[in-house]
Amino acid sequence: MKPSATIIGGSMAGLFAATALSKKGWDVSVHEKVPVPLSGRGAGIATYDELADLVFKATNNNNVLGTTAKSRVSLDINGKIINNYDYPQVYTSWQYLFSILREQISNDDYFMGDDCIKIEQNEDKAIAFFENGKKKETDLIIVANGIKSELRTYVDNKAYPQYAGYVGWRGVVNEEEISKNSLETLSNYFIVVLPYNQQIASYPIAGEGKNPFKIGERRINWIWYKPVPQKKLKEILLGKSGQQFEDGIPPNEIREEIVNDLFKEAEEKLPPQLVELVKITKQPLIQPIFDLQSIKMKNGRVVTIGDAAFTARPHVGMGVTKAAMDAFTLSEYLEDSSNLDDLDKWEHSRLKESQFIVNRSRKLGQYLSIPKNNEDLIMPNVQNVLKDTAISLYDMEDYKI
Ligand SMILES: Cc1cc2nc3c(=O)[nH]c(=O)nc-3n(C[C@H](O)[C@H](O)[C@H](O)COP(=O)(O)OP(=O)(O)OC[C@H]3O[C@@H](n4cnc5c(N)ncnc54)[C@H](O)[C@@H]3O)c2cc1C
Repeated sequence: MKPSATIIGGSMAGLFAATALSKKGWDVSVHEKVPVPLSGRGAGIATYDELADLVFKATNNNNVLGTTAKSRVSLDINGKIINNYDYPQVYTSWQYLFSILREQISNDDYFMGDDCIKIEQNEDKAIAFFENGKKKETDLIIVANGIKSELRTYVDNKAYPQYAGYVGWRGVVNEEEISKNSLETLSNYFIVVLPYNQQIASYPIAGEGKNPFKIGERRINWIWYKPVPQKKLKEILLGKSGQQFEDGIPPNEIREEIVNDLFKEAEEKLPPQLVELVKITKQPLIQPIFDLQSIKMKNGRVVTIGDAAFTARPHVGMGVTKAAMDAFTLSEYLEDSSNLDDLDKWEHSRLKESQFIVNRSRKLGQYLSIPKNNEDLIMPNVQNVLKDTAISLYDMEDYKI
């Protein structure tokens, strides 16, 4: 009989795990709690050769994954290019990646509306229980249900998400809505600007129409990191309806005065191209930045992967690549169910690499929260930020795993 795995979570990590294991002859099923097809979580995803290789392994899709910016620049307050770093890179969208991975899994093996609420295991099997009364017994359970995972406690009951002390305001604008002057800069470069204690970045991503990669028909994605102490975060997450949200707020609940403050601040601190970009965004989103480190990724027949195990801050742009690497390395260690012991080696190597990635993301973002204990804030050199943000693992000088 084929070895079998139940995968909890039907997003990036879950889909990579399902494709990787089924290619190794495993019988897999994916269980996603959301009852409708997933869509549009965070628009832009930076890619690297290692991610393109794993996407190809998973899908046989050899097409370019998105749209390219040839180099990275910074702008002064007047919008003039002041720094340049040559790093051609392909940017894709969450939606595109999700759709090509999702096509690999038959509808008979992908279950929507399956909210896993409990896990048990014995010597022979791991058992997943779902809120709708379903129960699934397999050789292995893969917990791939994101940073907020409560199921993580079956593997590591000490790991929990930590607020980084800042939020990312985000938005996406169609190129056709942007003035010719601003578009010339916005559509050609990955741009980083560093107002004091802050960072804003923008880059082109695929459009949603017939010619998604054609200049003029693509979109520009931006993210503006700003310090927000925990107490103030609560204030920002108080919705229009009066509801208090905890670690994220639905866009339609964001109060108008907060968006107006953002627009005002943009005028004071950003170059004109970015002021325009921010101000014509129809619905800016707020993303409080959290990260997470585990000390275990395995307990018997249960493993955690993707954001459920480790979540890095977005500056490393590594979430999807890390999820894919967790999944493919797992499938390599698991040629069949009889060698679950080999998972110790898998766990050891993934812990090491994931700790490296999260620590690096903390280092890159440390100037974005308000300094503690009256320490002076030291802003980084913008050329280093251009050089270090969202790059391939193999381009990181300190990567030696
Ligand atoms: C601002 C920002 C920018 C980013 N930029 C990049 C980038 O450039 N490059 C990059 O690689 N990554 C980037 N990321 C990170 C990336 O989006 C994530 O790392 C990646 O989506 C994680 O995938 P995942 O499958 O592990 O988790 P998730 O995408 O969170 O999916 C978890 C899934 O599990 C489901 N689920 C939850 N609980 C249950 C349950 N009990 N039962 C069943 N299902 C359940 C959820 O509904 C969800 O669909 C960025 C993130 C942020 C916040």
